Amino acid sequence: MPSYAFFQNKIIPLEDAKIGIMTHALHYGTAIFEGIRGNWNAEKKQTYIFRMREHYKRLENGCKVLKIKLPYTIDEICEKTIELVAKCGFQEDAYIRPLAYTSTQVLGVRLHDLEHDFFMFVIPWGRYLDVDKARCCVSSWHRPEDNVIPPQVKACGVYINNALAKTEAVNNGYDEAIMLSPDGHVSEGTGENLFLVIGGKLVTPATTDSILMGITRNTVIELAEKELGIPTIQRSIDRGELYTADECFLTGTAAHVTPVYEIDQRTVADGEIGPITAKIQDIYAKVIRGNHPKYMHWCTPVYKK
Ligand code: PMP
Repeated sequence: MPSYAFFQNKIIPLEDAKIGIMTHALHYGTAIFEGIRGNWNAEKKQTYIFRMREHYKRLENGCKVLKIKLPYTIDEICEKTIELVAKCGFQEDAYIRPLAYTSTQVLGVRLHDLEHDFFMFVIPWGRYLDVDKARCCVSSWHRPEDNVIPPQVKACGVYINNALAKTEAVNNGYDEAIMLSPDGHVSEGTGENLFLVIGGKLVTPATTDSILMGITRNTVIELAEKELGIPTIQRSIDRGELYTADECFLTGTAAHVTPVYEIDQRTVADGEIGPITAKIQDIYAKVIRGNHPKYMHWCTPVYKK
């Protein structure tokens, strides 16, 4: 099945969407991206886009930081997203990649006096961390502090930091890196937020520990509270706590809820998927595929029946 892109206000085949080599964003990383999932429900023959508006709200916030003027409203982008996913017609999980970028063909490091554009494309994409449970290491690369580049913004240039950590981890035989904040507290994975289970409660790094405010993180906090009666404590986490936690898992749009069974060559508890992690995985899987009636407001169906 061919992929399509929404590019310069038209839906066209993905391979025809091209930008010039002098595009500012290509040279300086001056762009904001998102990653949104369209989850295929085989029984209902439907694709549900998960928490689409929240993703675009985060994109809009990022654009504000980078002074990027979005050429469309969030409502227009939501409408186009539905149209684009429907046009692709994949009968499998899809991944939507929107990008708001500095489109001027000019050199010069700055954010002012530049033009902007927005495109998105859709590709079929299954599991991101392609393991049932992940082996992680703490990275030698730290997250940037807010005064270096705001880490709560999905700015393209920031992801050099994540890529350095990911490749170091994979080259050393791990599935994913856990990055520390500038002051040495646990921050997040290279494309995921991190949760620990300690004494029956969820613990996750606070917003001040250089994390991206994940939409999956927010989803898990709400589902744990409402469906399992498990509270989440948002606080700074010391590296040593990673080694002694009862359970650990990563959350992200691409990675869903991925259990972590080993960190820095120490098994997390007995190395099996923990009971609370398993329950959260189970509820999350139902919710994102439009199989949980209470959370259908998070799911936008693509195909009109
Ligand atoms: N942290 C980073 C650095 C990420 O790139 C992502 C993926 N967007 C996440 C966390 C998880 O965020 P979300 O749940 O919104 O996908």
